[in-house]
Amino acid sequence: MIGKNILIVDDTETNIDILIDLLDDKYELLVATDGSTALEILAQEKIDLVLLDIMMPIMDGYDVCKHIRNNYNTEELPIIFITAKSDEESIEKAYDIGGNDYVVKPFKAKELLARIDTQLKLKTLIDNLERVASYDEMTGIYNRRKFFQLAVDVFKEGIDNLYAVMIDIDKFKDVNDKYGHPTGDKVIKLVAKEISKNICEDSIFGRVGGEEFAILCFKDSAQTVKEKIEKLRKNIENLEILSDNNELIKCTISEGIAKATNETKTIDALLKEADIALYEAKGTGRNRVIFR
Ligand code: GH3
Ligand code: MG
Ligand code: MG
Repeated sequence: MIGKNILIVDDTETNIDILIDLLDDKYELLVATDGSTALEILAQEKIDLVLLDIMMPIMDGYDVCKHIRNNYNTEELPIIFITAKSDEESIEKAYDIGGNDYVVKPFKAKELLARIDTQLKLKTLIDNLERVASYDEMTGIYNRRKFFQLAVDVFKEGIDNLYAVMIDIDKFKDVNDKYGHPTGDKVIKLVAKEISKNICEDSIFGRVGGEEFAILCFKDSAQTVKEKIEKLRKNIENLEILSDNNELIKCTISEGIAKATNETKTIDALLKEADIALYEAKGTGRNRVIFR
């Protein structure tokens, strides 16, 4: 598979040479001759698969594998052990600590190639599945499921300066009724795009309902949040969205903001507060920001 990076970890040069000969024209290869170098490479480069020797001085292949599984967000990174150890206990241990496959040296070239190919295909499938399950197809931003998943993690990490913002397009039913559903879709996409442009990189932003969005962001002061969110409201109000007949579509949003405090026990509670603020914005005339 072109463009796939394989990391070879082995302390013996002849073993490395054999693998390079076999794989060089199919994959991008990186080589580490000891465990700690392997971990350094993994921290810096995008690696798609690891070929891991077991018997190495200082840090053996088992330790490297354990370290990868515990310290990197690479749960799905395929690790194939390639080793001279062929006893059942060694094989069992390799799978137990998170290895995906096990090949005994001396290996048959075609067999190793097939096993690598299988693992890479599996990884591609899992990545695609993760992408489909995490992003909203229409807008390209996080979907509700992924937003809440990330939100729970963010909340666990700490609530200092954490704000939640709930956003809902005003009178969106009217847009659909007047211009049709496809144009409504176009409006949702443009609103999502405009919000994306206006939020910080460390914010989490998702489509949590049909025409509803949520943001989690970190800011030093409530004033900064209010200003940013108010600016966003104005930007949306000023968007020049045209219908198929070149009519200017009026589109505004209402926004509710809540700040996490020591009384905020869960992320759901924080989002609920923001939702109450949003409801208040709707109830007091729409196209406005309410801060609780
Ligand atoms: P409010 O100001 O109170 O929010 O009024 P509203 O009309 O926006 O609110 P309501 O929740 O009654 O209606 C939301 C509408 O959004 C109803 C639904 O058909 C439409 N909608 C939801 N998802 C989509 C979508 O993906 N595409 C389009 N075109 N419309 C959608
Ligand atoms: Mg609405
Ligand atoms: Mg709504």
